[in-house]
Amino acid sequence: MKKPKAYFNVLKLRLNMTLKREVVTNYPVAAFMEPNLFCNLHCPACPTGLNLRLRPTVSVEEEFFRSAIDEIGDYLFQLYMYNWGEPLLHKRTPEMIAYAKAKDIRINLSTNLSIKLTDDYIERLVRSGLDTMLVSLDGVTAETYSRYRRNGNFELVRENMRRIRETKDRLGLKTPKVVWQFLVFRHNEHEIEQARALHREWGADEMIIAGAEMPMEPHSEGFEPSTIPEYNIYHPDHPTQREAQRLLASDRACGWLYGVMVLNPNGKVSPCCAVPTEKLDFGEYQKGGKLLDVWNNDKFRRARRLFAPAGKRAPKRLTDAEKQEISQRITGMSMKAALSVNEETQLICHKCPIPSMQNYTGPIITEVINQLNASSAREKSQLKKLPYLLRYWLMGAPEWNGLARPRAAVFRYLSRAARR
Ligand code: SF4
Ligand code: SF4
Repeated sequence: MKKPKAYFNVLKLRLNMTLKREVVTNYPVAAFMEPNLFCNLHCPACPTGLNLRLRPTVSVEEEFFRSAIDEIGDYLFQLYMYNWGEPLLHKRTPEMIAYAKAKDIRINLSTNLSIKLTDDYIERLVRSGLDTMLVSLDGVTAETYSRYRRNGNFELVRENMRRIRETKDRLGLKTPKVVWQFLVFRHNEHEIEQARALHREWGADEMIIAGAEMPMEPHSEGFEPSTIPEYNIYHPDHPTQREAQRLLASDRACGWLYGVMVLNPNGKVSPCCAVPTEKLDFGEYQKGGKLLDVWNNDKFRRARRLFAPAGKRAPKRLTDAEKQEISQRITGMSMKAALSVNEETQLICHKCPIPSMQNYTGPIITEVINQLNASSAREKSQLKKLPYLLRYWLMGAPEWNGLARPRAAVFRYLSRAARR
């Protein structure tokens, strides 16, 4: 269980976000800190896979990683060690995971797993404390798989999944939970059911089946969204579209700007995980510096002002043209949105590539609450429940229904007071 200050930090985050403060006083509750900005595959929707050189080909230095974890690790509930590159191409990834894990952070990694890994590396990875490993495998045949995962080795991915399962069994460990991630296009939708039936046998513990983002022109030839509406994220009724429209028409602030730090291997700080080019980053962190200073620099404050009551001009009812424009931003892993930003006058937030994910901190806080509730329920003695209750209250007891109304009234009062 994390120290009480991590839970009090959640309360500060909620207050800063509700009051739409330009300068934040809380630390992030989640972070993206990936080891590498390069990859061995050539997926056609990915700027790294296409070798567009929108970010430099660099790896993180372990000392740099540790320095950042030393500063914010006590407050983090989730750490995502992936974004634009392949994390298992860094030889010290297991050790960096173990370092962060010592701060009691839930750690997630996404990999193509099409890499020759030694037995020693797999064992260090399994022992590191990694919680969840997403494995990109978009088919059950080599032919289907390699349509999108170019340069990927289908048999190698299967073999690695099997070896990870065997290593876990040999060591008697339940983690990492291996999650087979199947991105659905038209060309592979016929293999979904086979994958579902095979996933345990092949070494995965769970499956995520999700609609794929389409590659941008001129890389889109041969790719089409799934004909199954559930897996077509461009379909007007898809939850991604509905959530994007709901959030853009609301007056909520973006949760990334208040609760999630995105620190790239070379120190550049992005406002969220969907900034494909370094040109649109907001700042830079240097070892021994203060991440919070970067987080409150001019660009971050300008971005937060976009959501401030006086500045936000989001239409309450979006026109069909606006809906279509929002839908197209998510093409090519957000490259379409990024390429349409005027760097001189705009921030990427003006063309947000992931509007459906602006409430990113909400589910993280909900999970923290659920974990506290579950841990408290497991304790028989009232005395042993106390530490959990204390943390629950420090966060503002967000699910305590009896307090929901008075708490909302206090927030409204504070919001009005701050605007005066
Ligand atoms: S999508 Fe992932 S696996 Fe594919 S090229 Fe990009 S980083 Fe590599
Ligand atoms: S680009 Fe969108 S999700 Fe990213 S920080 Fe800006 S508003 Fe938030």
